[in-house]
Amino acid sequence: MKIILEGHSYKYAAEQILLQTLPDEKPEFTDAIPESGSYAHIALREITIKGEALASVFAKLSHNGRVYFGRSQTRRIDPDSPLFDVINDRERSRAVKLAFFRAARRCTGVELPWGATTGIRPSTLITRMVLRSGMTEKAATATLRREYYVSAARAELALDAARAELKARRALAPNDLALYIGIPFCPTRCAYCSFVSQSVERSMELLPPFLDALKREADALAEAMAPASAHIGAVYIGGGTPTTPDAASIDALLTHLDKTFNFAASTEYTVEAGRADTITAEKLAVLKAHGVTRISVNPQTMSPEVLRAIGRRHTPEDVYAAFELVRAAGFDYVNADLIAGLPGDTQDGFRASLEALIALAPENITVHTLSRKRGARVTVENTPVPPGTEVSEMLSLASPALRAANYSPYYLYRQKFTSGGFENTGWTTPGGDCLYNIIMMDELRPVLALGAGVTKLVARPTESGDYGRIERLFNPKYPYEYIERIDGIIEKKRRVKEFLSREF
Ligand code: SF4
Repeated sequence: MKIILEGHSYKYAAEQILLQTLPDEKPEFTDAIPESGSYAHIALREITIKGEALASVFAKLSHNGRVYFGRSQTRRIDPDSPLFDVINDRERSRAVKLAFFRAARRCTGVELPWGATTGIRPSTLITRMVLRSGMTEKAATATLRREYYVSAARAELALDAARAELKARRALAPNDLALYIGIPFCPTRCAYCSFVSQSVERSMELLPPFLDALKREADALAEAMAPASAHIGAVYIGGGTPTTPDAASIDALLTHLDKTFNFAASTEYTVEAGRADTITAEKLAVLKAHGVTRISVNPQTMSPEVLRAIGRRHTPEDVYAAFELVRAAGFDYVNADLIAGLPGDTQDGFRASLEALIALAPENITVHTLSRKRGARVTVENTPVPPGTEVSEMLSLASPALRAANYSPYYLYRQKFTSGGFENTGWTTPGGDCLYNIIMMDELRPVLALGAGVTKLVARPTESGDYGRIERLFNPKYPYEYIERIDGIIEKKRRVKEFLSREF
């Protein structure tokens, strides 16, 4: 579809709405309204109301011979705010999205679960309204429903996640930050994975040099952190599958981390063990001895057929055995992941997996929606997966079942390429929130990454909950590139040092 922007250049905002509302249309930006065919004309004009400079957006959508309109307007911004430019830009982008969404909604007649929201963290819309405008949580949720057309079920999810974020903001000390360590090795590559390399099974010989390079990077990070008064409030070792190395290698890595960093202020230490086929009593004993407090066992499904279809070597029985080992080792916080929409899965299969996991009583259950990422086998091979309507039914099963079992949502995010535009939600039993997940998803504090990960240098928030610029430093995600480029990665710690000296 041809898209004409007038008075602004919010291409990304327009693309996002087109992708969500008319996913079969490809955006093509032009300067002139075409004489025939579908098009969207989105015009932004400066206006003044009661002495305030605002912007008004008018969208006209011509599709299949009919014409639809949508309007929106920016809200007032405190002209003295130090972040006026950032907020003004965000407001204008929001007005563009809303005007276009309103026109597209009239065109399709389809109600989307997340309405006109396009960001990966819809719950932040509530937290911003509460913190910046002083709205009550109830009023902010009503605004999400009314202005953004979010469904009642999704607004309820967003409200719970926003409450967990607001609680975490109050609990975090000013100098807290999080440490992430990414180990990009797995026993096999899952069909939906685009993270570890396609040859992950053949890259095991890179594990020892990868761990050596990781220890060097840890030393460099500790040196960069030394002058600042930052506390590591949460540690998270993710992957890949960080329990892929043998027990002795895990022990050596964690011993090195213990010596290098001060974990005394850490309220939690998580290892995303993930795959049941990598969990042994010996490895769990090592993790426990190093003060790890949280473990993940992530089956994704409890159907043997679906496990095979996604390329897992383990069975549901292995998951039960891993849970027994984890509980016997004395871990009080266990997370289990499920994915709705996997190849070969059905509503009944998903319900059975969910019930099996609830019966295992992990403290956290994370329900993901399948994302068909570029490079993943399901995408490359065009593997049939359940349609969006069926995924919607699966997720509709999950919410009431989890709430009935005393879980509530505590963080959520949306990803691109998910069936039906749905979300991933972390559910927790009372008091079981994983602080790292909230810090990372809601960008509450800097996250310093080692190994395969992304460092996020998040500037301190203002009282009204707005952030300054977030600088991201990307490490290579594949082991070979990481090992080869370790000197440059270490050199980049200079940026971390500058940031910490300024902010902490
Ligand atoms: S366990 Fe995770 S990181 Fe490893 S192959 Fe599967 S999806 Fe990818």
